[in-house]
Amino acid sequence: MAEYIIDERDVKFVLYEMLDVAQLTKSEKFGGFGKEDFDMVLESAWKLARTTLSAANADGDEHGAHLVDGVVKMPKSHHAAYKAYREGGWGATTADPEFGGQGLPYSVGIAVAEAFVGAACAFAMTPGLTNGAAGLIHSFGTPEQKALYLEKMWSGQWAGTMCLTEPSAGSAVGDLMSKAKPCGDGTYKITGTKIFISSGDQDFTENIIHLFLAKIDAPDTPKGIKGVSLFVVPKVRVNPDGGLGKSNDVVCTKIEEKMGIHGSSTAVLNFGDNGECIGYLLGEAHQGIKYMFQMMNEARIGVGVQGQSMCAGAYELARKYAKERVQGVDVRNMKDADAPRVEIVQHPDVRRMLLYQKAIAEGTRALIYSTAFYEDMSQVAPDENDRMMYHHFVELLTPICKAYSTDMGYLAATSSVQTLGGYGYCREYGVEQYVRDLKIGSIYEGTNGIQALDLVGRKLGMGGGMVLMSYLNALNSWVDAHKEDKGLAPLVQKLDAAKGKLIEVTMAFQMEGRSNPMFPVANASTYLEMFGHVQIAYLLLQQAVIADKKFAEIAKAKGVTDEAGWKKLVETHDEARYYSNKICTAAFFVNQVLPHALADAEIIMAKDRSIFDVVF
Ligand SMILES: Cc1cc2nc3c(=O)[nH]c(=O)nc-3n(C[C@H](O)[C@H](O)[C@H](O)COP(=O)(O)OP(=O)(O)OC[C@H]3O[C@@H](n4cnc5c(N)ncnc54)[C@H](O)[C@@H]3O)c2cc1C
Repeated sequence: MAEYIIDERDVKFVLYEMLDVAQLTKSEKFGGFGKEDFDMVLESAWKLARTTLSAANADGDEHGAHLVDGVVKMPKSHHAAYKAYREGGWGATTADPEFGGQGLPYSVGIAVAEAFVGAACAFAMTPGLTNGAAGLIHSFGTPEQKALYLEKMWSGQWAGTMCLTEPSAGSAVGDLMSKAKPCGDGTYKITGTKIFISSGDQDFTENIIHLFLAKIDAPDTPKGIKGVSLFVVPKVRVNPDGGLGKSNDVVCTKIEEKMGIHGSSTAVLNFGDNGECIGYLLGEAHQGIKYMFQMMNEARIGVGVQGQSMCAGAYELARKYAKERVQGVDVRNMKDADAPRVEIVQHPDVRRMLLYQKAIAEGTRALIYSTAFYEDMSQVAPDENDRMMYHHFVELLTPICKAYSTDMGYLAATSSVQTLGGYGYCREYGVEQYVRDLKIGSIYEGTNGIQALDLVGRKLGMGGGMVLMSYLNALNSWVDAHKEDKGLAPLVQKLDAAKGKLIEVTMAFQMEGRSNPMFPVANASTYLEMFGHVQIAYLLLQQAVIADKKFAEIAKAKGVTDEAGWKKLVETHDEARYYSNKICTAAFFVNQVLPHALADAEIIMAKDRSIFDVVF
């Protein structure tokens, strides 16, 4: 069975040395915590991930979730994992303390999520969706609804789901057909079929609280997406005292057979076939999409974590294998039949693949953790304008977290398979499972094509373009401050050039978009990739600047002043090696991946019309 390995050092580097999340403990909201609490949470999360969750991963993949005589059976190992998860109180990590939560910062919660998702993505789906569904009730529910559901959901006693997709309403959510007929007493009779519902049914919990999108069956319901409302629809009815009542006429008719995440039950659910399904409006009528967006934004960052954590897990397995597998000789001794055989990590092409994987794993980690940190800061920064700015950065970066991390994470994970050669393609080493499990990330929570449209159509124009402007101003200031840095200057200058191209393309979208809306729409995915490359280069270079300084401090403390000494230090001193590798990672990304951003700009500015002219 493959083990789960997480780079704990890099997680701590991002949280403490790059983002300084410990500063959050100075705020009123997180003042009850100290850095040692964050450390303790992380250590326990890593332990659970490495043991029980990791054990459930391959087992869940092999045995899957099944519908047996109308009842969904989850893999046995997932039951053990769910029990451990509940007992550890992990469902409540970032939840509101008023409802039994621990109230930890989101950025710490995201680091926990990396470990759990990286160890067992399919298992982590049920808790992840429950957390999102509870978050919606917390934000928009009445005090009675909060009292009825929240504690039980965050404790893991009950689970939650997100019910949007229907047979003819996937990306076009507004086309949904599900109905909610007012009963006259404030409740609604629900009817409809939802497909592809993750954890739609399972046998971990005694109840499942479905967050369900439907149109109210009334003459004044607006057409399309504006007429969609959000309902709380329990699988088992809940009595006013919180006890369980009778079944609520929600029936699972199918569990999908899938490419990956076999341990996650992807369900077809029929609601109200017998006219007995009761739903409760959440918030105001016709505001369903707006509310659901709150959950989707969180869920989109969560899907970004799937891309990041699984490519990071795959990279660690590939790195370990490459250091153990002996094959061939050093290329410089190729003609010598007696030359010693070497570990494949010595071969330049294997090193290239590994460094690519490392750059994507660490770059997307920095992207997602920093976005989560902005969310924390949007709540606790002392200045109101800063809070608003952080909030806007989260909005801007969410589609990039989701789409870039899953698209690039997938490419990096396939590179991990490649690194192992034949065994990469076989189950035993666990790397191919990462590829299969990761692929869904680019499809659900709004396909990556839809994320690109969100970025180009909504996010670039937010606040009349001012949000993008503040992002670019921050990037400009950083580049200006570092483009003469000793050693790193050539890399920062390449970022500067790529940033210039990003601005050029963005302006072209703005100038021509009004008269030719197809120009930005047709190039949205290429633009998102370009934006992602620039953002990751920016983050990895920020890391390199910190690493450069820390390396110099270690060298100074050790009295090392020449290149031979630095080389020896990298070989013998763990921290020096970590920082030196950080600089290599940034250099690799800027020299070997960032140029794709320039190619993206060229692709967009070619204004190619072939996709419109082709006849399929
Ligand atoms: C394993 C799994 C778990 C899921 N979990 C859930 C869940 O918990 N809850 C839930 O509600 N749903 C869930 N889904 C559904 C998922 O969100 C949808 O599959 C997804 O939104 C895409 O919808 P679709 O499959 O109907 O594809 P379609 O919408 O038919 O899209 C097909 C292709 O066309 C593209 N496309 C469609 N419209 C446009 C457009 N306007 N512009 C550009 N391109 C477009 C898409 O990007 C895609 O490439 C899950 C799906 C799977 C497979």
